[in-house]
Parts: sequence; C-alpha cells; structure tokens
Amino acid sequence: MKTIGYAARSAASPLAPFDVTRRELRPNDVAMEVLYCGVCHTDLHQARNDWGWSQYPMVPGHEIVGRVTAVGRDVRRYKAGDHVAVGCMVDSCQACDQCRKGLEQLCRKGNVQTYNDKERFSCEPAEPTYGGYSKHLVVREEFALRVPDGLDLAKVAPLLCAGITTYSPLRTWNVGPGSRVGVVGLGGLGHMAVKLAAALGADVTVMSRTADKQADALALGADRLLVSSDAEAMARAANGFDLIIDTVPVRHDINPYLSLLDVDATLVLVGQVGPLAEPSTVPLLLGRRRIAGSPIGGIAETQEMLDFCAKKGVHPDVEMIRMDEINDAFLRLERADVRYRFVIDMASLVPAQAG
Ligand code: NAP
Ligand code: ZN
Repeated sequence: MKTIGYAARSAASPLAPFDVTRRELRPNDVAMEVLYCGVCHTDLHQARNDWGWSQYPMVPGHEIVGRVTAVGRDVRRYKAGDHVAVGCMVDSCQACDQCRKGLEQLCRKGNVQTYNDKERFSCEPAEPTYGGYSKHLVVREEFALRVPDGLDLAKVAPLLCAGITTYSPLRTWNVGPGSRVGVVGLGGLGHMAVKLAAALGADVTVMSRTADKQADALALGADRLLVSSDAEAMARAANGFDLIIDTVPVRHDINPYLSLLDVDATLVLVGQVGPLAEPSTVPLLLGRRRIAGSPIGGIAETQEMLDFCAKKGVHPDVEMIRMDEINDAFLRLERADVRYRFVIDMASLVPAQAG
C-alpha cells in the first residue's frame, strides 16, 4: 500500500515529504490510518544521528494513535473503525523468557523498533521500519494497543512513549501513596512522570534548572519545584527521596541527585543515551543508593497505563502542530521550548506534499 510521510534523508537535512510503502496485510496484521503522532525528543536524536545508529531515509514517530482501516484474516482483537495506538515497538521474538513475561522491550533477540530498525522476525529480506510521521501504518496485532473510551484522542499519543517510559519505573519501584518521587527535567517525559506519580498518590518534586516552570509544575500535580542549580536548596533536600526519575536528554552530572536519595533509594535514568559525566561512588556506598536505567515498557504494561490514564483522567499537555511545522518543532524541542509535548495532526499531511 502506498502512503505518504515525512522523512529525514540525512543527519543534516530537514524532514521533508516522502513516499512510504506499507506491506500487504498478513493474517495477523492491523492496518490503521494515523490520526495523531507525538514528537518525542528521541525523534530528534535519531533524525540527527546523535546515537550513531541512524539509517536513512528515516520516518520518525513512535507515539501513534489512529483508526483501524482493515485487519488480516486471523485478527480477533480489532475491527475496522476501532481506535488503536502504537508505541516504540512493532515486533519481538515472542518466544524468549522476557517476551513470555510480557517484557517485549527486553526481548533477548532485541525488539523491532517502530522506526530506524529492520523487520527482523517476520520478513525476508528484512525491510526498514518507518514510523508514525505518515498517514498509514501496518502493525502486527500484538503490538497494537486499544485506546480506552474516555481518553481524548488528540491527546493520547504522548502516552505511547512519554507515558509508558515514566509509568514503568513508577510501577517497577512500587510508587504509591507516601512515596517521595523526584522528576529531573520538566519536558515531555518529565511532565508525564509528574502527572502519573501524582495520580498514583506520591509526593512529587520537580527538579528543574530554573524556577521558570514553578507554576506549571504545581498545575501538573507536583507538590513543589526544586531548582537544581540552587546548591543550598539541593543540600536542604538531601536524603529526601525514594525514587528519582532523570529525563535529561543530554550528558549531565548526576552526582547532585545521588545525595538526594534516601537509604536504598534509586535514581533511574530514562533520558540520556550514552556516557555520563563521572558519577561518584561515595554517595552510592554511604547510602546504599542505586543507579538504574529503564527502557519504555512492555505491551501489557502499556495497556495498563492507558487504562489507568482513562480511569484517572490523566492526559498529556499538548501543543498541536501541522506536519509541515515539524522542523520548527524540532528546533523548539532542542531549546526545551515546549509545554509539554508537540503532537502532529496527521490530517494536515495531504498527498500533494509527498515526493
Ligand atoms: P524534552 O521534552 O526535550 O525534555 C527534556 C527536559 O530535560 C527539558 O524540558 C529540560 O527540563 C531538561 N533539559 C534539557 N536540556 C537540558 C540540559 N542541557 N541540562 C539539563 N537539563 C536539560 O525531552 P523528552 O521527550 O522528555 O525526552 C527526554 C529524553 O528521554 C530524551 O533523551 C529521549 O531520547 C529519552 N527517552 C528515553 C526513553 C526510554 O525508553 N528510556 C523513552 C523516550 C525518550 P528543565 O527545563 O525543567 O530543566
Ligand atoms: Zn519516545
């Protein structure tokens, strides 16, 4: 099936219209019309080849919401007209211990990413994957999520990455009423961490570089904002947290956050990919503190998160953009000038733009 999208042709070129071919439906495939796609900082990293493994042309986008247009003959869960969502993965081996536990993000053979990857498991030769900055998508049934009634379709998309990436560590570290949670960086992931932690009943502190987002932090559900560049305020907050989720997208010093952890507490890194500035072992040893990492979440946990958000009325704060505004949105994302997630209205992508 021929469709259209927006692609990066190289690390240096702006995104531009691109013709995309989607595979013919296999028996377990779902075809969808993409209605909205969120803009994750990962899209910017990958388009610019910040991590060194980008393949071009690249159609980014892994926060995808749409409507089912057709299903393969063996599909039982979905029918045409249903609202479905796709996140960062479109396949995994489905057979290893991690996949069988519902932890497809930790598949022993590596999951297949929604874009900038190859369809390793079910396709010979391996075809490149293209993401949600496109009008249509085909995905195997197991990697399509059901959008629960009660969620605003125009705001759901960011839950598929920013939502699950912060929900998963909150659940892994058993956050609930009374938990003291810190969130470093108030961007796309950070604002979802605040909303989700607050909805789970935690006491939430935003750790931001300046006080500029103070009012926003409180409006999002945080109890306070701690200015991370204020050494005295940071010293006063020592030993005060059970879990800190660090969403900063670039190399940075995590040492100031380690002393904020209580005994046995954890700093979980979800933002930066690559080497950190040197962490000191002193606060780790003295406080039996921990540093951890966490990638997105499994399919079952993603569905749980969507259902949780529907039940609790948790929606991302979005700024809707047109497809042809994406390059400007990337520039603004780089400057942390978004409150708090860009979402592309895919109705704005019309065939005349493709090339
Ligand atoms: P974002 O919307 O750009 O937000 C990042 C926030 O970090 C900013 O709002 C800013 O908050 C802070 N920040 C930005 N530059 C900084 C700097 N130089 N030093 C310190 N703080 C800085 O990005 P996002 O979409 O939330 O993504 C964040 C990171 O998570 C990206 O690297 C992305 O690739 C990664 N990610 C990981 C996973 C995973 O599975 N682990 C999933 C999705 C995304 P303040 O202004 O409040 O300081
Ligand atoms: Zn993402």
